[in-house]
Amino acid sequence: MAEILYKLMNRRSFIKTSLAAGALFTLSTGCNLGLKRGGQKASRWALLADTHIPADVNNNYRGFFPYQNLQKVVPEVTFALPDGVFIAGDLARLEGELGDYANLKKLLNPVAEKRPVFMALGNHDNRKNFLEVFDETSGAKPVVKDKYVIIVEGPPVRLIILDSLLYVNRVPGLLGKAQRQWLGNYLKNCDDMPTVICFHHTLGDGDGDLLDVTRLFSMIEPIRKVKAIIYGHSHAYGFSKFEGIHLINLPAVGYNFSDTEPVGWVEAKLTTQGGDFTLRAIAGNMHKDGSVKRLNWRA
Ligand SMILES: [Zn+2]
Repeated sequence: MAEILYKLMNRRSFIKTSLAAGALFTLSTGCNLGLKRGGQKASRWALLADTHIPADVNNNYRGFFPYQNLQKVVPEVTFALPDGVFIAGDLARLEGELGDYANLKKLLNPVAEKRPVFMALGNHDNRKNFLEVFDETSGAKPVVKDKYVIIVEGPPVRLIILDSLLYVNRVPGLLGKAQRQWLGNYLKNCDDMPTVICFHHTLGDGDGDLLDVTRLFSMIEPIRKVKAIIYGHSHAYGFSKFEGIHLINLPAVGYNFSDTEPVGWVEAKLTTQGGDFTLRAIAGNMHKDGSVKRLNWRA
């Protein structure tokens, strides 16, 4: 079986895989896995969101076939051979069925054999079914109860992947007090490596956004090592800022909600100074395919 880092594998198999793949990461979870190799100047990531993989491969929406879209993206990602892959939630079509995740796993396998794949959960995911298919090590104590949290200790940039899934197949999201408290503690105690926070939900004040976004913002705003937030949910590609923190909204892989939006993924190069983000559009609005957005981190 392919070694796949999206599960909480035991330490020995993690290290084996990491060495085999030349991975840069420390993966921290409740079972405190870890491997650190310093000195990297940049890490390269494939950033995906909203894959919406169905159990029925022919399922389609707005003329898009999410299964086929990911089938097209995975070879591109494998060819680009980033250090890691991140998918920002809404992995499954609508309700996070076991068959959705089985197809997702099958589709990701070619890249997961070569590089670690990290995933967040969105409002169209089912935590229990996700964990069942992705074969989490039983008995591993999660860092936050009933939440799926992953820390990727760069270097040169740390990713903290949070869980904003509140209700399956209903739009809003919530980190919740326990997860926010955990995040605050972690950020207080970790070193000053530039940190990017990742999850599914958007950061507006609407009823379908991240409902505790204001609390999150007020917590991270003074913590200078937090440089950016990466998220999905809107199926729209865009960059904005909050108090110098870059807000990076990834396009969807599965389908767009508007013809003006690209469908595809983003290739990112992260350093201690900032990041380059290159759009890899496969459908929808192809106009900005290949365009590069350069961001500088706040001091
Ligand atoms: Zn979505």
